[in-house]
Amino acid sequence: MIEIENVHKSFGALEVLKGINLTVDKGEVVSVIGGSGSGKSTLLTCINGLEPIDSGRILVDGTEVHAKTTDLNLLRRKIGIVFQQFNAFPHLTVLENVTLAPRKVKGMSRRDAEEIAVQQLSHVGLADKLKVYPNRLSGGQQQRMAIARALAMSPDYMLFDEVTSALDPQLVGEVLDTLKMLADDGMTMICVTHEMRFARDVSNRVAFFHKGVMAEIGPPEQIFGDAQHEETRNFLSSVR
Ligand code: ATP
Ligand code: MG
Repeated sequence: MIEIENVHKSFGALEVLKGINLTVDKGEVVSVIGGSGSGKSTLLTCINGLEPIDSGRILVDGTEVHAKTTDLNLLRRKIGIVFQQFNAFPHLTVLENVTLAPRKVKGMSRRDAEEIAVQQLSHVGLADKLKVYPNRLSGGQQQRMAIARALAMSPDYMLFDEVTSALDPQLVGEVLDTLKMLADDGMTMICVTHEMRFARDVSNRVAFFHKGVMAEIGPPEQIFGDAQHEETRNFLSSVR
């Protein structure tokens, strides 16, 4: 379970998160939507401890992310994160990209790491690309490789930050299908997304961020059919 309790965060004079409260249960898929600069990415980077927070707390399975005593490296093994921009190692093959962290961070043998990598790459439909270098992959394939790479660490949680935003429209579907498959498998996920159909069809709950505040959260039917706040309705009419 991820528990976010009254989290405040500023960059200099700019308050980016203004008291965020959110609990994500095991197996839940929460989509985060909202305008540019509303704090969506910042929230994700706070959850896995990439960014410090000013006040409040974030607990992952009861461990306080920003406590001085928390071993962040250990915690991050539980939390996979995939970003908008592809961040493959260009000089490593697809298989090597995916086995790197299990070998270096978890100390797995090459054989064990490759077994898991092949399994995850097959799962995302890249079984035939193991020996290929990332620059030979389409954008959608690169993103699926990034997802397989995160999954190879056997995380309990996955955070996705607009993983389809840099893709050509015809490649978006294959990556969303991969996310949907993960959700169906029971993965606990927080997905920052601009894909309203994905948010509506795949999430258990949708959170709408507006200027550092989680202005509204609820099941997709509520957010897309019966939003309570004017900002939510304005945002949705601007993206549809
Ligand atoms: P987008 O939809 O454009 O990705 P977002 O909701 O993800 O937006 P954030 O990236 O969380 O927004 O940024 C929130 C605000 O914090 C923005 O005004 C941004 O300029 C600012 N910000 C983000 N990261 C930093 C940083 N490292 N240093 C200073 N300001 C930052
Ligand atoms: Mg962002």
